[in-house]
Amino acid sequence: MAFTQPLPKSLSPSRLADFQACPRRYQHASVERIAQPATYATAKGRFVHFVFENLFLLEAHERTVERTREFITPAISAVLDEQVRSDLQLDDAMLEKMTSETLQIIDAYFAMEDPREVTSEGVELRLGVTVDDTPLFGILDRLDRDVQGNLIIVDYKTGALPNRNFDSQTFANAELYAVLCQAKLGETPSKIRLLYVSHGESVERNVTDVVIRARSNAATSAWKKIQRYYEDGDFPATPSTNACRFCAYKEICRSNGVPVPYR
Ligand code: SF4
Repeated sequence: MAFTQPLPKSLSPSRLADFQACPRRYQHASVERIAQPATYATAKGRFVHFVFENLFLLEAHERTVERTREFITPAISAVLDEQVRSDLQLDDAMLEKMTSETLQIIDAYFAMEDPREVTSEGVELRLGVTVDDTPLFGILDRLDRDVQGNLIIVDYKTGALPNRNFDSQTFANAELYAVLCQAKLGETPSKIRLLYVSHGESVERNVTDVVIRARSNAATSAWKKIQRYYEDGDFPATPSTNACRFCAYKEICRSNGVPVPYR
């Protein structure tokens, strides 16, 4: 079948992750653009990101815990729009849960770092660049400059902590951000910091040229396949328990005869 929708103009880390997990998921999400209903976890993630984005738009000396809490009310109207409320069937109890969990996250965050001492070079920084014929695009939560003058990629995480032996996916998105920084800004970040703000813990990894090359090659290889599958009119389904478990397209796949292993 030939697609009527155009191929996306670029590849982001999250869309690359979709493709690597299951090409059919990429087809549904990025080519056919079938909306993925909001879940409590995705809405809370956007809610918390809104609060921290606005915190870092303040002058450094204004970044207090009290000012941070003030962004919760604007987050309700900015993030919880009619579609999200409908997807979540949001009621007063759920809203109270989300706001109280965000207050806890704010307290946990301030125990991790003092934002008044952070030098940030970009917040929600949008970077797009073509590397090896592959158009890449990403939005970095924060790009900091440490006291030694090094660039640090900072990414907020509202989900579970990774296990001790971080798997290769833990840093995958942020490592692709490092590719973007090197190609677009001409400077390679020295480190990635993932802030697990729900837990008040962070994990870090140095950025090396080997990692940059590997992530860049993986993106290029995926983009070639994406173009080929698009021309073929079919992205293969690769069902697995891990991939299908939280996938929004289970019912579509089942109705198309894909043996989805997860209910
Ligand atoms: S339900 Fe499974 S097979 Fe279908 S798109 Fe999602 S991950 Fe792929």
